[in-house]
Amino acid sequence: MRKQTRPPEPGVLAKHGTRWNRQWRNLRVRNPQAPFQWYRTDNRSAREWILPDLREMTQGHCAFCDAFPLEDRSTEPIEHFRPKSDPRFYNQAYAWKNLYYCCERCQSNKGEQWDDRLLRPDATDYSFTEYFDFNFRTGMIQPNATAERADQLRAEVTIDLYGLDSDARRRYRKLERRRWRRDRSAINNWAYRDFLQ
Ligand SMILES: [Zn+2]
Repeated sequence: MRKQTRPPEPGVLAKHGTRWNRQWRNLRVRNPQAPFQWYRTDNRSAREWILPDLREMTQGHCAFCDAFPLEDRSTEPIEHFRPKSDPRFYNQAYAWKNLYYCCERCQSNKGEQWDDRLLRPDATDYSFTEYFDFNFRTGMIQPNATAERADQLRAEVTIDLYGLDSDARRRYRKLERRRWRRDRSAINNWAYRDFLQ
């Protein structure tokens, strides 16, 4: 999970976010099964308005695993960090700080789960090495063995909920590293940047 800096809130959320949160909450209170749809303004959905800023925040990478999200019709590259389907967080469905550019794999791993210990890649005090370690031979990611126990637990929960240490992820990281070492072009063109450098 690579350190990120969040750009300022897009104007469309500053202008409509509070009202959209309220609309979503009211809809779900009436019908707890109501599916989520991005509200629209000025002929575009909120999703279309905010995607460029979210993408810019990670240079087009998934905020959690650092792979490249697919952006086709069947996938939704925006992750609600605090789940939008959870009544505790209805009022954060359009909250700028709750939204991340995110791949399908991370989203399907996490689903509607929530844990207060989850790490945020854009928290001011977050750094990769403080919380995590890689094993460069196996591709494994694990909590930093020298961190305090509470911080190790946060790393553990984050790895677990986003599925960051699955066999497939370990393989992808190693493969990308081998390819990058032959090529060495600009790091932002590559997935798993923290694992490459
Ligand atoms: Zn991901």
